Amino acid sequence: MDMQTSFLDRLFDSGLLIETGVDGLYGRSGTFEDVIAAFERLIDRFGGADGAEAIRFPPGMNRAYFEKSGYMKSFPQLAGTVHSFCGCELDHVSLIKAMDEGQDWTGEQKATDIVLTPAACYPLYPTIAKRGRLKQKGGLYDLQSYCFRHEPSNDPARQQLFRMREYVCMGTQQDVTDFRQLWMDRGVKMMAEVELPVEIDVANDPFFGRAGKMMVNNQRDQNLKFELLIPITSVAKPTACMSFNYHQDSFGVKWGLELHDGAVAHTACVGFGLERIALALFHHHGLDPKLWPATVRKALWG
Ligand code: AMP
Ligand code: ZN
Repeated sequence: MDMQTSFLDRLFDSGLLIETGVDGLYGRSGTFEDVIAAFERLIDRFGGADGAEAIRFPPGMNRAYFEKSGYMKSFPQLAGTVHSFCGCELDHVSLIKAMDEGQDWTGEQKATDIVLTPAACYPLYPTIAKRGRLKQKGGLYDLQSYCFRHEPSNDPARQQLFRMREYVCMGTQQDVTDFRQLWMDRGVKMMAEVELPVEIDVANDPFFGRAGKMMVNNQRDQNLKFELLIPITSVAKPTACMSFNYHQDSFGVKWGLELHDGAVAHTACVGFGLERIALALFHHHGLDPKLWPATVRKALWG
């Protein structure tokens, strides 16, 4: 049995994760949620004084915004769309018949105006652009959302529905690259407080297809993405538990985000993979948080 399956089995056996019959789609126990809540308080402790505006979107976003974002150009393999039955009674009869006969009943489902949120910050850019120019100090936002990515796996750290906590900064190139560096330093300090081993490395997003290879090279060459990695199910290939992304002015141009003087805004976002961080804690300190080192418990629960 590989390390991923055995860790997943131990998580099921302990009740921390609850099987649903779909790889990457799990229930979470109260204990698991308590660890995430405690870690989010630690995030607040590090970032709370910055005065970010807190915004919570549901895990679905406006399909029109999603289309404009270009997500389907870069990551069609990961996207999840919400479809619903929109037919008449006759169509309903055919649907039930297809289901009864074990045939595909989903063909007639129609796309709704909602798609599943692929990253917590996607609904933010059009929302802020609609408000008009940013204030002189730019914009700083605190987000958290369940996100969907179609990447079924038996690695418990690769889920299809998982939570991302994010801070997003909008400002000049200097503002947003300083923000990204600040959070890289904070990320290292936070993980040291909860006694998790980390490394930071340059990274890339999984751009689709042959054209995607160029995007990957460009992202890496320009140091646009860094990740904070922690070993969870593999020491050789540690898992990205935080990401630090500099989008240059690409979202500013796309969405018309303007600084107070009308210049195009640069943006950066910092994402915490909350399930991955909880799993890293369970992997390194054991499946029962009551037995974790007192220092780690103090960092998380005071
Ligand atoms: P990304 O937008 O890919 O940089 O994702 C932001 C953060 O979300 C990553 O650093 C991970 O910690 C987390 N994450 C990404 N994909 C998954 C996944 N499939 N399952 C759990 N966490 C994920
Ligand atoms: Zn983001």
